[in-house]
Amino acid sequence: MAIACRPFGQGPQVSVFTLGTMRALGSVQQMYDVAQEAFFAGINHIETAPAYGPAEVFLGKVLQRLSNEGKVPSNGWIITSKLLPGLSFKEGQRQLLGILSRVGISKIDNLAIHGINIQSHLDWALKGEGSDLIRWAFDESLIGQIGFSSHGSQSLIKRAIESDQFQFCSLHVHLLDPEKIPLAKLALRNGMGVMAISPADKGGRLQDPSQTLISDCDPIPPIQLAYRFLLAEGISTLTLGASQPNDLELAKNLANNDTPLTSVEQNSISNLRIKAKQRLGKTFCGQCRSCLPCPKDVPIPELLRLRNLALGHDLMIFSKERYNLIGKAGHWWEQINANECARCQQCLPRCPNNLSIPDLLEETHSLLSDAPERRLWG
Ligand code: SF4
Ligand code: SF4
Repeated sequence: MAIACRPFGQGPQVSVFTLGTMRALGSVQQMYDVAQEAFFAGINHIETAPAYGPAEVFLGKVLQRLSNEGKVPSNGWIITSKLLPGLSFKEGQRQLLGILSRVGISKIDNLAIHGINIQSHLDWALKGEGSDLIRWAFDESLIGQIGFSSHGSQSLIKRAIESDQFQFCSLHVHLLDPEKIPLAKLALRNGMGVMAISPADKGGRLQDPSQTLISDCDPIPPIQLAYRFLLAEGISTLTLGASQPNDLELAKNLANNDTPLTSVEQNSISNLRIKAKQRLGKTFCGQCRSCLPCPKDVPIPELLRLRNLALGHDLMIFSKERYNLIGKAGHWWEQINANECARCQQCLPRCPNNLSIPDLLEETHSLLSDAPERRLWG
């Protein structure tokens, strides 16, 4: 079976699904079973990272075994791994050589700088020791191309895309959170590859959707609709973290669906959005970001997006999970929750939807916070 492949920056083409190795860490055999199924499904792109514990070592052994068995995609496996920004030149050299040694390769196709989340990370890659490291890795033919992932602001991601330093990027683009689609399209126009970060799990735990979401997407399962939406938007490849061969079933079924959205799919997406807006009524946040900046740095759109998901799509578990992570994940996620709103009202005249933002933030906090705290103003 062959899954469609798409251009990916200046490197070899990659399958529209990418096998993520973060969920097959129980044993070498588990990763072998998943990687073998990926081969049968026509997947040629595997994503790993030093941070996934034994993943790179397991992958090295699995690739060797698959090669001995002749189970290698026609143009070989394409491998992506990651380095964190901020490393010294010497430490970066040591870590890159460590990746190559663990995976058992002399050159890695795609190296991503993982988590360009703040400006100093981008500076490191463009003009700091990271820039020296990238140049050295190219000069030594240790990498095929360089990319980045980011959980940072839209403006930071735009600067990274327009820097001409990177040939691919990994972004949070999702059916239920399409705000970064324009950035993905900018990257594609600039000749970059774009990988969607975990569109099922990070896109709303779509592997375990609410009944409301299932019925809004009917007749198409939410996870399938999410994959088809991203592929139709032109995203190069979607990561899929499989823990068992069955997890790749949907990728196999969608192998020949690399086509524009059908009218049934378009209707499902439209119905999904209409139903969510109806449930939210006049409290729907359109994510335009006009309310910013807030003097207390409250990330109003991000918090009201979680409210949109919780009340519009009944994604309460996912929304609570994300809300209660605020302030606990460093620069990987928001630092300030809705409880910090001081009701100064500066955002009110800027909202085109005339939302009563402080009231909605208060409601969001009571709805999603696991440990409700007393409001600062009362
Ligand atoms: S009312 Fe709250 S959210 Fe709005 S600007 Fe003031 S502190 Fe920020
Ligand atoms: S201005 Fe209003 S609609 Fe736009 S993101 Fe802010 S709260 Fe939402």
